Amino acid sequence: MSVEDADVVIVGAGPYGLSLAAQLRKRRVSFRIFGQAMKFWREMPIGVNLKSLAFATNIFVPEPGYTFPEWCRQRGLEDFEPCTMQSFAEYGTWMQERFVPDLESEEVIHVSAAGRGFDVTLSSGRRVNARRIVFATGLSYLARIPEVLRDLPRELASHTYFLSDYSDFRGKEVAVIGGGASAIEAGALVHEAGGQAQVLVRDAEAVFHGRSNRVRPMLERIREPMTVMGAGRRHWVLQHFPLAVHFLPEARRVRLVQGYLGPASPWWIKDRVLGKVAIHVRSEVTAARPVGGRVRLTVRSDGRVEREFEVDRVIAGTGYDADLARLPYLDSVLRERMLCTERAPALSMSFESSVKGLYFMGPMSAMSFGPLFRFVAGADFTVRMLARHLGGPLARAQDAVKGWTAKAFGAEGALVSDGRPKQPSAFIFPGGPVNRPQPSSKKWQQK
Ligand SMILES: Cc1cc2nc3c(=O)[nH]c(=O)nc-3n(C[C@H](O)[C@H](O)[C@H](O)COP(=O)(O)OP(=O)(O)OC[C@H]3O[C@@H](n4cnc5c(N)ncnc54)[C@H](O)[C@@H]3O)c2cc1C
Repeated sequence: MSVEDADVVIVGAGPYGLSLAAQLRKRRVSFRIFGQAMKFWREMPIGVNLKSLAFATNIFVPEPGYTFPEWCRQRGLEDFEPCTMQSFAEYGTWMQERFVPDLESEEVIHVSAAGRGFDVTLSSGRRVNARRIVFATGLSYLARIPEVLRDLPRELASHTYFLSDYSDFRGKEVAVIGGGASAIEAGALVHEAGGQAQVLVRDAEAVFHGRSNRVRPMLERIREPMTVMGAGRRHWVLQHFPLAVHFLPEARRVRLVQGYLGPASPWWIKDRVLGKVAIHVRSEVTAARPVGGRVRLTVRSDGRVEREFEVDRVIAGTGYDADLARLPYLDSVLRERMLCTERAPALSMSFESSVKGLYFMGPMSAMSFGPLFRFVAGADFTVRMLARHLGGPLARAQDAVKGWTAKAFGAEGALVSDGRPKQPSAFIFPGGPVNRPQPSSKKWQQK
């Protein structure tokens, strides 16, 4: 079989991959992109909402008028929060058809080093020789299943990442493990599907954010500026200065990434679980074994008392590990050549790993750039940096001229069509609209 060529290969067609493709196309950088458009979002269970605000959840294309809130407004849909995952998936697919029509919906199954580039094998068996390769595979392969559940058969235990239909839980007793939005929402979805859910939270409380206000008083907006991660000064710094995070000493950066934004759920999940789903805090599962088609759990409460009970199914809402070793498509020789921060690839300012020509975007880049990059919003900064880098000296010169023209003709003060101030520079994230919501952090717990 003949081997095809590509300058840049992008693996994955979610918000990061599609945004980068749109930027490269505009810059006339030759690329190929593989994957199914918005697959992760299309496979979300019906009734699941975005956790982020609409303005923080875009496919970032180099033309105004194509943000998610604008798309929602044109269709009479909610354009702030909560927006459905289904709407976001439709928006993303619509954007792909317009901005990335040459998407090839094949999976990349293997990538290894070859000469001065990479040998990419596709699911059809075709092979592509790529000079540079960008991985944008999101949270695929990264679901964290606690040790204690790993030996349970698949039909008895699953991770929220793999669940797209909750109707199987009708009439079932289900234990959901975890205290974050995914776990609490899984409890709600089991209940709504006609099952009986209980959520086991290890921490002392299940945290719910308060409702966001679209309009906020000036003083509040100054004290707690709105950002793509919610209101707050630290969020603001992380959003506007990702390079400052990048250049923090590694140990500090790791602490920041690991400790920032603990498990919490949005306000609109609260009504769906309150009085409907039992939430047990300070409860840790210490053992789980299959018994006659059910699961017998041992749960330690308050660090002392252990109790045992049986359920029909267990769902782990226990998060994700950015672990290079989990990526099945990456050749082991390449992986071993890569320097890591914790278990994630250590990336340069241009999102390049220690293997020249090999790049990572999205959750895999959070250890190098901060917590913002766990979310779709991080794609804005990422793709502008990466497109400029991949475009080479010509792209950088074009940006310099564009910046100079904008300054000379005062374009910086103009507004884009959704009312946000235009970005003053590629290194600074867009500021929010003047009236952004303020999620107050209310806490709630139920035994
Ligand atoms: C339940 C849940 C809810 C979330 N809600 C939000 C939210 O509301 N807002 C927010 O900002 N973030 C949210 N996130 C986080 C968000 O999913 C990540 O930040 C994210 O993955 C960003 O987009 P992406 O393009 O990196 O990944 P994805 O959107 O997951 O896209 C990656 C794509 O790569 C494809 N792929 C994987 N392997 C291959 C391969 N070998 N070959 C070809 N294609 C491949 C996948 O099929 C997938 O379509 C949520 C995460 C979860 C788990």
